Amino acid sequence: TFKAVVIEKGEGGQRVALKDFDEADMMDGDVTVRVTHSTLNYKDGLALTGKAPVVRRWPMIPGIDFAGVVEASSHPDWKPGDAVVLNGWGTGETHLGAYAEKSRVKGDWLVALPASLTPEQAMAIGTAGYTAMLAMLALERHGLTPQSGPALVTGAAGGVGSVAVSLLARAGWHVVASTGRAAEEAEYLRGLGAAEIIDRAELSAPGKPLGKERWAAAIDAVGATTLANALAMTRYGGAVAACGLAGGMDLPTSVAPFILRGVALYGIESVMAPLPLRREAWARLARDLDPAALSAMTTTVPLAEVIARGPEILAGRTRGRVVVTIA
Ligand code: NAP
Repeated sequence: TFKAVVIEKGEGGQRVALKDFDEADMMDGDVTVRVTHSTLNYKDGLALTGKAPVVRRWPMIPGIDFAGVVEASSHPDWKPGDAVVLNGWGTGETHLGAYAEKSRVKGDWLVALPASLTPEQAMAIGTAGYTAMLAMLALERHGLTPQSGPALVTGAAGGVGSVAVSLLARAGWHVVASTGRAAEEAEYLRGLGAAEIIDRAELSAPGKPLGKERWAAAIDAVGATTLANALAMTRYGGAVAACGLAGGMDLPTSVAPFILRGVALYGIESVMAPLPLRREAWARLARDLDPAALSAMTTTVPLAEVIARGPEILAGRTRGRVVVTIA
């Protein structure tokens, strides 16, 4: 057996507990990994609390990302001792996930841990940080640079937001950070490189189809009216990368930003992203993310404590990133 956080479906809903999990009950895969670190992402909060139907199989071990060391492999790319990272592919949703001492997965899902990152740093980045980089890559592919104008980051004090603020600022962007916690987190966000802090209330009330052109680029973790307003205030020819729904799943917008300002809306998807794109994102994170900023945005908890952190992240009370130490 090995230790794991296990979600079971019962009469009155789901039960979550740290337990001994039988190795014989692991799922199929050609690589077995000794997991050393995982993280808490918004989606993990949804799984841990059952607030949205993230979990599709019971019992489930939640946890959508991990860093660890290969213990056994029949996959040609991996051998025992290799340091690896995994994001998504349904782990913690349809496939037994990361909040466990062991995970058996497909070798095709793994990325080599970049040489310059420790497993802790890789998980401080985690799925939230890797998604922030996917968003940045989309904006860059659109042709946007810091010379194009300011960049908006919404949900700035959260996981995706904190990494996005830090990456954009270090690349030379004038970062406008939108947060609901300006009073508590303004200093934190300036420390990550934000040039301006705005209250998220400025973006969360229904606005006009077109507003004042305030930024050339945006990374949005919030969705709903916030994303609609982000689009309405994007400069001519700019782009918005949509990656989250912390504020809601709807998108009450109009075609005006698209047809009158040529604004583009990019969808960012991290779970099924193809391997070459993952490798590119991880290589850029290893190269471009400031280790001091990463450490400033990271809190660490032991495995048993992640259960209590689930409701916290959904309530928007988590600052930056949470690493879960397993081994
Ligand atoms: P997180 O740490 O909880 O960050 C979300 C932030 O959004 C919060 O810290 C808060 O920032 C803001 N927020 C929370 N509730 C809000 C509300 N009701 N209205 C407006 N803003 C609100 O979560 P995360 O792990 O960074 O994930 C962020 C989002 O990205 C989630 O929706 C997640 O599902 C999504 N995501 C998507 C992918 C993908 O593949 N597309 C990958 C990873 C994450 P402030 O306090 O600063 O306002």
